[in-house]
Amino acid sequence: MSIQWYPGHMAKAKRQMIEKIKQIDVVIELVDSRVPMSSRNPLVDEIASGKPRLLLMNKIDMADRRATKAWQNYFEDHGLKVHLVNSQTGQGVSMIPEAVRQLTAARRKKLEDKGFRPHADRALILGIPNVGKSTLINRLAGKRIAKIGDRPGVTTAQQWIKVGKTMELLDTPGILWPKFDDPQVGLRLAATGAIKEELLDFQEIAFFLIKTMLVHYREAFAKRFQLADLPELDGVDDQDLIVKVFDQIGKKRGCLMSGGIINYDRVSELIIRDFRGQKIGPLTLEWP
Ligand code: GDP
Repeated sequence: MSIQWYPGHMAKAKRQMIEKIKQIDVVIELVDSRVPMSSRNPLVDEIASGKPRLLLMNKIDMADRRATKAWQNYFEDHGLKVHLVNSQTGQGVSMIPEAVRQLTAARRKKLEDKGFRPHADRALILGIPNVGKSTLINRLAGKRIAKIGDRPGVTTAQQWIKVGKTMELLDTPGILWPKFDDPQVGLRLAATGAIKEELLDFQEIAFFLIKTMLVHYREAFAKRFQLADLPELDGVDDQDLIVKVFDQIGKKRGCLMSGGIINYDRVSELIIRDFRGQKIGPLTLEWP
């Protein structure tokens, strides 16, 4: 899903989210493990203010395992409770109600001390587009939920989904806008498909991916595109070196125009598609 965000739209989304969060006990923030920092909403701290929070690193199958571990340590060092999940297969998902339970222990104790019986833990899933919110909600619900909101003219009453005995989840996720200001962040998000690629130049995204792979994933990159000698980037002539790699891939894959000129758009598309389709391997695009 790609949404165009405008300032007015963002302000409204923020207001609605703050309203929604009043009814819930735990905020579940979902991020894409390939870009765990870039896929966080810039205002999530403010929006989730005061509520206990669980950070779920989703799509762990698509990310570099070592980088995921490093990010998990990083977030935990910053005081966040972190869990790793694959919403598509369900890996790690059954841990969520217990993790949420732990986060509400203090609230429940307070109520019990006053003689009240605490209600189930109410949670909301929050994140930028494409991080896997709907997939996770469907997983937790254990069945496909009809997307009533997709039908025009139908007003939706939000509903609670029971997850196990202790947790209730809002059936609609909180959708927040991605970060826009940092061009590097933009490239990472565009590479994963979280922001409209029309907003960015295809070749620029592919260029960024090649550069990342030349630095961090040389073996997997060389193997996928059958590249013999990969250049070492040295910071000075990087542009030239990357263009040479572009050319090599173009020739190997037959992305040529008449006269044997390399079709850079086609090479770019191919690289982005291979990255998204996990043809190169599990890759992470940023490190703590
Ligand atoms: P939303 O916009 O945040 O609701 O994201 P969706 O739930 O629509 O998911 C976006 C895409 O990511 C879909 O193609 C999902 O199938 C895919 N997806 C979600 N979670 C995972 C995961 O853990 N692993 C993989 N490989 N794909 C996932």
